[in-house]
Amino acid sequence: MIPRNQHSISRKQVSRAALNVLYGLNKAGFEAFLVGGCLRDLLCGRQPKDFDVVTDATPDQVADLFKRSRIIGRRFQIVHVRFGREVIEVSTFRAFQRDDDLDSDQHSAHEETGLVLRDNTWGSIEEDALRRDFTINALYYNIADFALYDFVDSRRDIENGVIRMIGDPVQRYREDPVRMLRAARFAAKLGFSLDAASATPIPAMAELLLQVPPARLFDEVLKLFLSGHARASYQQLRDLGLFHFLFPDTEDSLEGDQGETWERLILAAMDNTDRRLAQDKPVTPAFIFAVLLWPVITARLERYQDEGMPSAPALHKAATAALNLQVKHTAIPRRFSTVMREMWELQMRLPKRGGKRADATMEHPRFRAAYDFLLLREEAGELNPGLGQWWTLYQEADDIERRDMVQALGPQAQGGNGRRRRRRRR
Ligand code: ATP
Ligand code: MG
Repeated sequence: MIPRNQHSISRKQVSRAALNVLYGLNKAGFEAFLVGGCLRDLLCGRQPKDFDVVTDATPDQVADLFKRSRIIGRRFQIVHVRFGREVIEVSTFRAFQRDDDLDSDQHSAHEETGLVLRDNTWGSIEEDALRRDFTINALYYNIADFALYDFVDSRRDIENGVIRMIGDPVQRYREDPVRMLRAARFAAKLGFSLDAASATPIPAMAELLLQVPPARLFDEVLKLFLSGHARASYQQLRDLGLFHFLFPDTEDSLEGDQGETWERLILAAMDNTDRRLAQDKPVTPAFIFAVLLWPVITARLERYQDEGMPSAPALHKAATAALNLQVKHTAIPRRFSTVMREMWELQMRLPKRGGKRADATMEHPRFRAAYDFLLLREEAGELNPGLGQWWTLYQEADDIERRDMVQALGPQAQGGNGRRRRRRRR
């Protein structure tokens, strides 16, 4: 126990909603703690994304206490308590299941692989700490006495910037392979390094990601790439051998002839996303996924066109094939894949600017995203520069200037022959 005068966490740093939940539980006679990521972030001087609460009250008891609450999850029941726009996640202290409990215990289930399926065995705070993933995520702040509770040297590891799995890393990754992605994400986000015992097993165990439901991997990919640390996350995923099991076809392209170009394209997209988030500009998963699958699309497109297929159906077929393969790994909800297809189709349309084509293209709801994408392709050296700048000027030009710009185009750019122009830089 670290008493209140020996640590820097203060109630002023905690959201109103979280305090309401903590006090509410406390007043009803339950224990109530902040836990995990929010304390880690505060000790690192960062603004927490959200505040998570743990208590000895069961989910039903929590739900009874707060009007605007509901129990969610089966494998892992938690209660969402809503205050204004904020949602506080409240979980109940949980213990590990002991192996000899497994057959008889109604509340927990393992597969033969060691994968934890259900996890609603209540426990003490200390047991709760031991089943969390990394030491940096296992600190507790007690609202009753404002003390920190540290069972696994969490504070030492946060101060030293070390990501260390609690318990035996191999066993913990086997129980839940997503922990490998979390290791990569925290390393990227916090600039921490992975402790050797926690890092070493990852490359050999990375393929366990194939057992994780694609919907969950989609959520994790969003956290990796849309939280302001996309470039660092991507690097971690590649270095740890995890990327291959999230985007296998993309990784194959990275190892092919044009690998360096694709690497530059992906890094440019990651930088672009990080920059946008830093400026509070909107980002969409569709953009990142469209870029990540673009190497796969172009390879197929080229093949279908070489077989004599016109560009529009070739692209359609390439997109369908690439998406069908990808959703076996990470889900891609329809609302995003629709946008991705549009962004890809617009890459074919952007070179064709004759007549009224440029104006029509610019009216397209995905024009802006497709134009940003085009700029990245030029930046990466996939295309010779020129077209991007033309579009930059065209958007700034008035009607007369636009007419002149279109008239000044060469016959190819007037468009219409259906053949994609693709110059490669030597
Ligand atoms: P952030 O919210 O910044 O992504 P976080 O650490 O709060 O980071 P959450 O996903 O919100 O991460 O999870 C809350 C807490 O639950 C974690 O701090 C950790 O203690 C625990 N936890 C989450 N996922 C797992 C997991 N797969 N295995 C074990 N413990 C986990
Ligand atoms: Mg959190």
